[in-house]
Amino acid sequence: MVKQPGVDELYDGVRAGNRALIGRAITLIESRNPAHQQKAQQLLHKLLPHAGGAQRVGISGVPGVGKSTFIEKLGMWLVDEGNRVAVLAVDPSSGRTGGSILGDKTRMEQLSACEKAFIRPSPSAGVLGGVARATRETMMVLEAAGFDVVLVETVGTGQSETMVADMVDFFLVLMLPGAGDELQGIKKGILELADMVAINKADIFAEKLKQAVREYKSALHILTDASPSWHPPVVTCSGLKGDGVPELWGQVEKHSRIMSESGERKARRTEQRLTWLDTQVRDRLLQRFYNDDAVKAELPSLREKVKQGDITVSAAADKLLSLLK
Ligand code: GDP
Repeated sequence: MVKQPGVDELYDGVRAGNRALIGRAITLIESRNPAHQQKAQQLLHKLLPHAGGAQRVGISGVPGVGKSTFIEKLGMWLVDEGNRVAVLAVDPSSGRTGGSILGDKTRMEQLSACEKAFIRPSPSAGVLGGVARATRETMMVLEAAGFDVVLVETVGTGQSETMVADMVDFFLVLMLPGAGDELQGIKKGILELADMVAINKADIFAEKLKQAVREYKSALHILTDASPSWHPPVVTCSGLKGDGVPELWGQVEKHSRIMSESGERKARRTEQRLTWLDTQVRDRLLQRFYNDDAVKAELPSLREKVKQGDITVSAAADKLLSLLK
């Protein structure tokens, strides 16, 4: 069996930017084994003072919108500009072997071969809360390892987007023009999270582009801005050709400047940490509840009684909670 590196070795490796040890640290974080978790927490505690230095950007959009093509182009451009770039994925719907986003490394061929970039597919931690925890903690490791930019890719489904928006400084939504129903349903919810909308594949949508920009601008206009100092812009780009990518990043930097100067960046991160605390407490309480032996023993019969109408829901809940040690 391969000897597992200790906390100190992992710490030194991460701080030195050693890719193999960064990978081992992330694997430890993703593990659900209690002993690994304990070790991971010790490591994170040591790394904490060195975290927080990266520009954290979430990138979202429905499958096929061009996320990985765009991230490859943006990532390579950022590297050329002198940055070290990490890419994480959040895809609670599929495990690592189940064709998750980023699972197929060939999708970002150049970037994954680049020394100054680090790509990590979505943790297969299953439940949403587990994926969120692993991703946040992985971000800390990468920041402590000196990455300047962390890009977090997510699929365009409501819950995972909210989750990612809650861990980044800037949330970018990629859209396509011309579908006609862009502003309907779930996509509208996504606009509320957006710090910027980028209409992608500008190289092939020349005609419809202007109209799409107008539509998204007016949709954003009627939403209340999350910040008093920033109204989400609508830009166009081509992830394939690279058109508009530097300008788009210019907006990210402008946002960063404005938010840092106004103190909103710090406030947003603090707010995110507090939300994270609430989420963790809730997740752990639920876990403890459903893993409790007394609860497990009583739950089926109480469910049955609720089903038959023999007991009120409140009484059943009281009874179950009273069993919890
Ligand atoms: P993802 O599912 O959002 O990650 O999308 P992909 O990056 O895999 O892209 C989906 C398809 O759209 C692929 O066939 C890409 O080659 C194509 N594509 C991505 N970006 C662009 C673009 O800017 N212009 C054009 N014309 N095609 C693109």
